[in-house]
Amino acid sequence: MEYKESHYSLRCAACGSEYGENGNGFLLSCSRNHPPALLRTFYREKLEIRNDLPGVFRYSNWLPVRRIIDGIECPSVYKSTGLAKAAGLDNLFISFSGYWPEKHAFMKTCSFKELETSGVLGRLPENNSGTIVVSSAGNTGRAFLKACSENAINALIVIPEKALSSLWLTGNSAGFYGSRTVKIAVLRGNADYFDAIRLGRIISSMDGFFAEGGAKNVGRRDGMGVVVLSAAETIGVIPDHYFQAVGSGTGGIAAWEAGERLLRDGAYGRRIMHLHLSQNEPFTPIKDAWEKRDRNLKIYADDYDVKMRINSMRASVLSNRKPPYSLTGGLYDALMYSSGYMYGVSNEESVEAGKIFYKTEGMDLDPAAEVAVASLFQAVKMERVKRKDIILLNITGGGYRCFKKDNEIVYIKPDIVFDLKDIQGVSSTEKVEEKIALLYEKVYI
Ligand SMILES: [Zn+2]
Repeated sequence: MEYKESHYSLRCAACGSEYGENGNGFLLSCSRNHPPALLRTFYREKLEIRNDLPGVFRYSNWLPVRRIIDGIECPSVYKSTGLAKAAGLDNLFISFSGYWPEKHAFMKTCSFKELETSGVLGRLPENNSGTIVVSSAGNTGRAFLKACSENAINALIVIPEKALSSLWLTGNSAGFYGSRTVKIAVLRGNADYFDAIRLGRIISSMDGFFAEGGAKNVGRRDGMGVVVLSAAETIGVIPDHYFQAVGSGTGGIAAWEAGERLLRDGAYGRRIMHLHLSQNEPFTPIKDAWEKRDRNLKIYADDYDVKMRINSMRASVLSNRKPPYSLTGGLYDALMYSSGYMYGVSNEESVEAGKIFYKTEGMDLDPAAEVAVASLFQAVKMERVKRKDIILLNITGGGYRCFKKDNEIVYIKPDIVFDLKDIQGVSSTEKVEEKIALLYEKVYI
């Protein structure tokens, strides 16, 4: 792939300052003195679809990338008949990220988090020698585990212990993993995603490590934006409505940004795509704030009640105590500018939605995707969508059962274990640094 340094620039969503990509390919925020804001990419050309490039790189002139990362498949987009009929909709399109050979969906992690790796890792220069630190609730970790192993990129994945079962590879990818460019750190002691983010932050401030950046990384957001680009390519127009279950909400911001970009492009019509985002009860911080049109999220402490609520969620990947909601260009703005909606879905409703999807479409879903399906039924009932509207349902993960039947799965063991108390208290940074230095066999001073 020829790389044109100038195919995009970065603009601050708050002050409009414009930046070129810096040498290490990892500018995450504006340097001016103002409250937190996201940077956004601005691509100089219209969307060009490159059939000659593999997987998601067919959209590479709208990805902030300088190299191709192997093995990242596009979602499969198709017009639903079964689920559409059950919901009473005429134009329901499903974007399926997962494994479903009959629908030409071949994501070997069975999760749309794989899309994030295209933008994040493709943004890194070839000569990058640092170790990227990725904090995850499970699915993002598996996606980076696969992509970094297969492409020999140094990475440290930080996850709560209860998400360890999410870290698996196929036998083939496990062969690449054997070269050990990827290491795994787990956090014990009833830790959740937020705790993993905290541990990741401490590690990424050490020499030789850098933070993946989460929602702040334009590569992550534009990689996920491929869901909307591939849908527009298949449908021919920007959808009227977009449904997705969210934890941090980064996928929601990404979809909104991709929709806005397509609107400016003009080749796919000039519709505003309304966001319909859902969370799993009983922990729904984004929904709670949005229903009050409150830009400020409630602060969730490390208390027993919050942990219990998070532990009782069926879709644990949707738990994030500090999502990128309030900052300029974040989820509040995405919902506001798209005239969006939030939904709360109970565990029972999501199980039922999963059963309906299986019966009408014929594939098993990730619990988060089941939450999104349930929210679609709520939207129909509340008349937030009309029968003939063009609707895009982002099925963010599925096909696990089908995939595990067809493929040998290898579960990955942690390289290092931290306890929650390692990241609490005044000497937490020193404790973490000491353990990490030992893992990487560096002299600790
Ligand atoms: Zn700025």
